[in-house]
Order: sequence, then C-alpha cells, then structure tokens
Amino acid sequence: MSELYTARAPGRVNLIGEHTDYNGGMVLPAALTVGLEATLMPRADTTVAVSSNGYDAPAIRNLADDAVGDWADPCVGAIREANALGLLKGGATIDIVSTIPEGSGLSSSAALIVAVLKAAREAVVEGPGDIEIAIAARRVENNYMGVPCGIMDQMAVALATPGTAMALDTKAMAYGVVPLPANHEMVVVHSGLTRKLTDGRYAARKEECDAAKRHFGTEDLCLLDLATVEASDLDEVPKKRALHCLTENARVHAAIAALDGGHIERFGQAMNASHASMRDLFEMSLPEIDALVASAVELGAVGARLTGGGFGGCIVACVEKDLREEWLEALLSRHPRARFIDAVGG
Ligand code: ADP
Ligand code: MG
Repeated sequence: MSELYTARAPGRVNLIGEHTDYNGGMVLPAALTVGLEATLMPRADTTVAVSSNGYDAPAIRNLADDAVGDWADPCVGAIREANALGLLKGGATIDIVSTIPEGSGLSSSAALIVAVLKAAREAVVEGPGDIEIAIAARRVENNYMGVPCGIMDQMAVALATPGTAMALDTKAMAYGVVPLPANHEMVVVHSGLTRKLTDGRYAARKEECDAAKRHFGTEDLCLLDLATVEASDLDEVPKKRALHCLTENARVHAAIAALDGGHIERFGQAMNASHASMRDLFEMSLPEIDALVASAVELGAVGARLTGGGFGGCIVACVEKDLREEWLEALLSRHPRARFIDAVGG
C-alpha cells in the first residue's frame, strides 16, 4: 500500500503592495488562520484523482491533460511540477480540506499548489526548500494555468510565520519579518463578490503594465521615479498603471516603517492611500468594495483597503482590538452581503 503524505498551507492577506510583485516592487503579506490541508497518495499510473470539501464530486484527470479551466487544474499542474522536480513518478490521489474562501484574494490557489508540492516533498529523502517550492508553485499558475501572477502569494503561503507580516522584496527575492501591532488587528471581510483570476482582467492589467515597461525600457515599474512617469508621453492607461506601481511601492516602504516604529495611524493612512490608488489609477476595485472600505473607515478602522488581485473578494481593515466586535457588527449590518473571514494580530 502506498504511503499518505500531508501538508498544510495558510491563506494570506496582503496588507499593502498590490500588483507590485511582477513590477519589481515590495509586498507585505501576512499568514491567516484559515488554511488548506492536502493529503496525497502517489500512484503508479498517470491519473490525478482529486476530492475536496469544496466540491461535491471528485475530479479524475490525467497527468498529460492541459489546463481546461476546471477547479482541479491547480492540482494537475502541481502534480506535473512534482514530477518535474523528481518528487513523484506518476499521478496521485489527492484529498483537500480547506477553510480559505476561493477567488477572494486570499490565495487559495497558491495555498493549494504549495500544500500539494509540500506533501509530495515528503515522498523523497531530500526535497527542495520552501523558496524553491514557492517558485515551482508560481510556475504552475504562470505556465500551466495561464495566470500571469507574481511571486507574492506563493512566498507568503510557503514561508510566512503566523502573527507577523512578511516584507518581501520581489526583485531581490529577499524578505524580512515585520511584527504585527499588539493592540490592533488586521480584519479580513469578504465583500460577497467573487472573481476568477483566470477570467482575463488580471491578465489585462499585466499587459497594460507590460506596455509601460516597454515604453520605459524596464521590468521594474515600481522603481521608476514619479516625475519621469508624469512627464512622459506614455498613453493615459499604462501611465496610470505605472503611477500606481511606483506610488504603491513607496507606500509599502512607508507602511513597513510605520509598523516597525509603532505608528499605527501612519500605517492606516498608507492603507487608505493604497485603496484610492487601486480605485483610481489601477482601476481594480468595484463600487461595492469602495463603499465597504469607506464604511470600514467611517466606523472606526485606522485604515482599510481592497486586498488581493482585485475585481471582488476581500477587504482588510486595521482595527483596534477592543473595538473590533462593535465595529464588525456595525459594518456587517450596513453591508448585508459582507461576511467576516479572519483576523490576525501580533
Ligand atoms: P484565490 O484568490 O483564492 O487564489 P484563484 O482564482 O486564484 O483565487 O484560485 C481559485 C482556484 O483554486 C479554484 O478555482 C480551484 O481551482 C482552486 N481551489 C481553491 N480552493 C480549493 C479547494 N478547497 N478545493 C479545490 N480546489 C480549490
Ligand atoms: Mg490565486
């Protein structure tokens, strides 16, 4: 009988730094308490059989299958990658148990792929390290599923320590640990609107960034200087995307300094400015999400913003611990479609 291998990966909330991870910039994700566990049994044939608590019927696929836009694609891609890494020789039977809402900006896809790869790593004596696992998981999304995401989600779910944020420089692939504030919580609230990153809007933003990259002859929009971009004759749309990237990157630096120095109001201001930039410059928000963010701040959060790839999903708000219960009740009664997901603090 084949062995069973199990691994877990958390969901993550990005506190600030959106769409900077494929533009040479910084991000600040934190591990959530919601997470995903994958149990894997290697198979001698090439079948990938997946069951999940999120889906009624199991999916039966083959290693040779291309992505078909189906929920089991990340699993097939992960098992192909596990073969390429020499962790498995053939298919697998996989069982998934998850508490991460899908398509909500909390990285359920990265948690799934990382958990499957980490479980497969248990099958060998000396496997790849966590950073290598994160890079392999990104290849699954980029090359197999066709989602042109950066490296943030995979690094966060493969490496983040609970109770802290990860200040990740995606250009240098270097990261540091930033303590979360002791008296405040990062509260994740779902807007009730979901999206699929494979639906094309994420790719459209990536292409607009690529146009700006070609114009300036750089891969690193986040490192351009404001005056250069403002004075350029680049078309309006890619110019707005570039302006978001470089100002967002500056806000991540400011947010890290604020957390390090215990200046929670400054951290909140950076979150609010980030939301305005995502809404006006990167145009990745929705009116319902703008309203939810505005309410979050009106009701007493020190800052709030859309989190994740955009066009739906969750907001994150920084709220004083003692106020959280009252704040949440008021927010959810004002926005009946919204629901509480998680809260993390130091
Ligand atoms: P997210 O922002 O949550 O990462 P994505 O659209 O990138 O959203 O990924 C969602 C995809 O991840 C789903 O369509 C499915 O393929 C996979 N997935 C996530 N959670 C589960 C689960 N519990 N069981 C099976 N597949 C899952
Ligand atoms: Mg995803």
